[in-house]
Amino acid sequence: MQRRRQQWLLHDQNGNEHGPFSHLVLAIPAPQATALLNTAAELAAMTGSVDMQPSWAVALAFEQPLQTSVEACFVEDNALAWVARDSSKPGRDGQHDNWILHASDAWSAQNLELPAAAVVERLKNALSGILGCALPEPALAQAHRWLYARPSRAQPWGALADATEGLHLCGDWCLSGRVEDAWHSGQLAAQQLLDQAALNAGRTERSPITHGGKS
Ligand SMILES: Cc1cc2nc3c(=O)[nH]c(=O)nc-3n(C[C@H](O)[C@H](O)[C@H](O)COP(=O)(O)OP(=O)(O)OC[C@H]3O[C@@H](n4cnc5c(N)ncnc54)[C@H](O)[C@@H]3O)c2cc1C
Repeated sequence: MQRRRQQWLLHDQNGNEHGPFSHLVLAIPAPQATALLNTAAELAAMTGSVDMQPSWAVALAFEQPLQTSVEACFVEDNALAWVARDSSKPGRDGQHDNWILHASDAWSAQNLELPAAAVVERLKNALSGILGCALPEPALAQAHRWLYARPSRAQPWGALADATEGLHLCGDWCLSGRVEDAWHSGQLAAQQLLDQAALNAGRTERSPITHGGKS
């Protein structure tokens, strides 16, 4: 990101230049935004203060339904924090018995560098323990590491902006890390951008650094 003559230019990894743009919206996790905000120290300090927790997630698909009535559960004091039987949700094709497993924050942080295959194995064993039954070999097993899964604490910001620079930031981390927070944050960033455009048209002064807050 480069600021030149009141405009933004973007330089990609292949050396291509994009722009100029009058406004920029960064809709990426706070740590990744911090890495780009070298020309906006005040915003970088705010995004840099956001601690984001990692989360290992595993998807399992079984040919035959597991012999359990469990459809979803929160788990305490375990490698797993959340388990959901996706195939029990409405509108699924029912071809396989599909499960989504989320590791706890602590387990994810402790096993950040574990190979995906080992993560599948360990979380599958944890599921077996929770359900109290042996699990057959899954037809599909996949692990994904979400490095910046959710903020460790909620923020009141809603969205962030340096209005004089035409720079806006949004994401679930501006509130409390759920998908509705991401949506609200995006809405707030869009509103701030439109308000600023209207102010610019009327040439009215206002404080440059803003946050939207949650109503
Ligand atoms: C495993 C998991 C399960 C979840 N389940 C639920 C759920 O059941 N219900 C719920 O409410 N919420 C759930 N959430 C939370 C929900 O997914 C998030 O709140 C939501 O996706 C956040 O949206 P966002 O737009 O803020 O960020 P993201 O969805 O993270 O989007 C940010 C995007 O920016 C991209 N990006 C990053 N850096 C750059 C860069 N330098 N240049 C270009 N692009 C970049 C990323 O690739 C990504 O696509 C879950 C989250 C995880 C990790």
